[in-house]
Amino acid sequence: MADLRSDTVTRPTAGMRAAMAAAEVGDDVFGDDPTVIALERQVAGLFGHEAALFTPTGTMANQIALQLVVPRGGELLAGGDAHVVAYELGAAAALGGISTRTWPSVGAALDVDQIDAMIRPAGYPSVPTRAIAVEQTHNLGGGTVISLETLRGLRAVADRAGAALHCDGARIWHAHIADDVPLDVYGRLFDTLSVCLSKGLGAPVGSLVIGSAEKIAEARVIRKRLGGGMRQVGILAAAGSYALDNHLSRLAEDHARAWRLAKALEPFGVIEADRVRTNLVPLDLSAAKLDAPSLAAAAAERGVLIAAMLPRTARLVTHLDLTDSDVEKAASVLGELLS
Ligand SMILES: *Cc1c(COP(=O)(O)O)cnc(C)c1O
Repeated sequence: MADLRSDTVTRPTAGMRAAMAAAEVGDDVFGDDPTVIALERQVAGLFGHEAALFTPTGTMANQIALQLVVPRGGELLAGGDAHVVAYELGAAAALGGISTRTWPSVGAALDVDQIDAMIRPAGYPSVPTRAIAVEQTHNLGGGTVISLETLRGLRAVADRAGAALHCDGARIWHAHIADDVPLDVYGRLFDTLSVCLSKGLGAPVGSLVIGSAEKIAEARVIRKRLGGGMRQVGILAAAGSYALDNHLSRLAEDHARAWRLAKALEPFGVIEADRVRTNLVPLDLSAAKLDAPSLAAAAAERGVLIAAMLPRTARLVTHLDLTDSDVEKAASVLGELLS
């Protein structure tokens, strides 16, 4: 099987397993797991922030961050197809008491003026906008990258409004590689960030929330409240540190493979290859004879797994565990089904 459903399907490599087995551990709820402390320092440093906190999932990292920047009853602005809005089961409202308002789904092509115009000032009885969340890279936008210029514009808007800026950076690593923007340049634009180690970087588990020392101290309390206080979790943090040291720069390979895959499928009218900048390849099946679930089922019978994201949108993802021949096989199987 060539599994292109997601970059979460990767399995730990032998080197990563060795690093996990050798990890020095302690009880992280007591704050004395040296491997977790090292990873948190490493990641905070990479993003130019004071502190970071290890969490089991990206969803928990996002939700902790949102609770840090939006008080109960406050408002968050985000894209309508953002992970924090569309794929976290209403957690912002259910757990954080956060009211959400969305701008129309446009992936990474944000309209800063439109977001600016949506901001509501504090004042009874309106709901004050307390934070804006963006996604880098944008998942449903097809791995698109928000430009530094747009992010700087958004930072200025947030500053004028006294609102915080959060980045769902599950795949910010890919933006860093694709646009050659240092991670700390991204980091300094945001009050809080979440990052995933278990996507393109290939760790089995793990995300982090990043922010000021004060915010991360508060984050530690929220994480425990959510049931995310873990004990000898250095075993997992070791996988994350290994991933950062060994799997970050190789993401360029995944991007090149994703582009080649898109180029091979371009003749079928389902994608423009030059819009593929990172490791996600969204297929627009609106004019195809197969919808996304049918294409995914037919491809699976031929040994290629892909994700049906929406009725007429399928997604292919390149990652660490694929070979060139997996990618060629995916291109030829999908080409055959689409022709
Ligand atoms: C995967 C992902 C997350 C976090 O998901 P978990 O499965 O909870 O780790 C957050 N945001 C985006 C954009 C993602 O793709």
